[in-house]
Formats: sequence, C-alpha cells, structure tokens
Amino acid sequence: MTDSTLTVTVLGCGGSSGVPLIGGADGRGVWGDCDPDEPRNRRTRSSIVMQAPDGRRLLVDTGPDMRNQLIANGIPYADAIFYTHAHADHIAGLDDVRPFNWALERPIEVFGTEAVLAEIRGRFDYAFRPWTPKDAFRPGVEPRFIKAGDRLEVVGLILDVFEQDHGKLNSLGFRCGDFAYCTDVVSLTDEVLSLLGGVDTWMVDCLQMKPHSAHAWLDRVLEWRERIRPRRTILTHLGPFMDWATLERTLPPGIEAAFDGLTFAVPGQIAF
Ligand SMILES: [Zn+2]
Ligand SMILES: [Zn+2]
Repeated sequence: MTDSTLTVTVLGCGGSSGVPLIGGADGRGVWGDCDPDEPRNRRTRSSIVMQAPDGRRLLVDTGPDMRNQLIANGIPYADAIFYTHAHADHIAGLDDVRPFNWALERPIEVFGTEAVLAEIRGRFDYAFRPWTPKDAFRPGVEPRFIKAGDRLEVVGLILDVFEQDHGKLNSLGFRCGDFAYCTDVVSLTDEVLSLLGGVDTWMVDCLQMKPHSAHAWLDRVLEWRERIRPRRTILTHLGPFMDWATLERTLPPGIEAAFDGLTFAVPGQIAF
C-alpha cells in the first residue's frame, strides 16, 4: 500500500431532471428556489470522475449530460465505469463514451450488479457486443459483475462497495480510502454507517430540504453525519429547491453544496 492522492471531479450534481428543469413561463427552465444568476445553480445530472495517482480514471455513472460534462471538465476518456444503479439519469449517456474506446483501443470495463448491467444491456445491447477498433461508431463495454460487500480493485483504486436503500430499488455506494460516494440513497444501515466512519470526504445525496421517499434530505444527512463524522461533507443530487448561495450561508461548518466542475483532492491511502 502507498499513501497517495485521489482527485475527484464533480461532472454533475443535479437531481434527475437537472437544474433548471425543462419548462417555465418563458420556456427557459424551472428554477424553483435557485437563483438563475448564480452559475453554481446550473446543475447537470449526477456523476463524478475519480483520478488515481497514476492518472487513470474511473467514471461513476453515465448520465444524459455525459458529452457536455466530459468536455467542460477536460476529461478525454476514463479507463473504467462504475454504475450505482440503472435509473435513466445515471445511464442514459452510455452511447457518448465511444471516444473512450478509441483512446483505450479496447472495450471499457463497466462495473455494476448483475441486475443493473442487465438493465443497461436491455437499453444499449449494441454496446455489449464484442468490440474491435473497426466498431468505432458504437461504444463497446465489458461487463464486470459486482455485489454489495465486494472489495474491488479498479484503475489502481480500492473500492469497498455497499448497498443503499433508494426507495423502490437499491443502489450501490462505495468507500475508496478516505473518500466515499453515496448518491441516490434514502436510508443507510448501521453496518454501512460504521463502514463510513471517519471517512475524510463524504459526497452524499441531498435532493431537498423536505423528506422524500427515495432520496436523502438535509436533516437526514445531518443525522448520518453525526455518526460518520467526516471532515468534509459535500452534498450532491441537488434539486431545484437547493439554492447554492443560501446553502453556503446556512450550512454548518464542514458541509457544503457541490457544484458542477468542483474538483478536490482526497489525501490518504487509496491504492495498492
Ligand atoms: Zn439520480
Ligand atoms: Zn436514482
């Protein structure tokens, strides 16, 4: 094991419809409580990229904003993809990752549960067929089945994977050394809260202020945070009622709202 630094880029931190939502009296979007003049309120669908010390990258989810997110953040390709679950806001951009194949000159390893990868395959069957460089006009992926409880080594990072209650279905969260990512979650077991104990930087679903059946809300995150005691908590999957400047002003120290393009380093032991 070596001490090294993980770099995380927030490609998107919005809810399933993004912020603003399509619509509005003038057709320019529904902003809810978000100030349209604050650029950090313009949120694409939730996704992150984790860069290992050797430069290899793990993309977490491929939402419908994929192409714009990668270009906006200067990320030409990732070496592998981790899927938290198969909701459209986390998978619909899979077709956009074809350039990863061109860069890697091989299929992209995609990690997910058997059920999640089967569902993605149902929508993007062509991406799961054998891929060679002559298949440049479609993405090619290599499924890697994982399950809660697994310790996974991917792009030189070690991920401890766990199950999260996401309302009608479960999603996967993970801890990678001193970083943990818990998107699309409404409740966490005691076991998972223990596993997250003392993590340095924790990114967590916080759709809104009011309780919700499938997503965490602020009071719930604050309760979890009491248990986990991270140094830094970063809220993601933020809906239209989560105004960035209001959160910045009112959240307790050590907790902040993400914004698209936020990049941070996590020190500590993350790789073999
Ligand atoms: Zn989502
Ligand atoms: Zn979801």
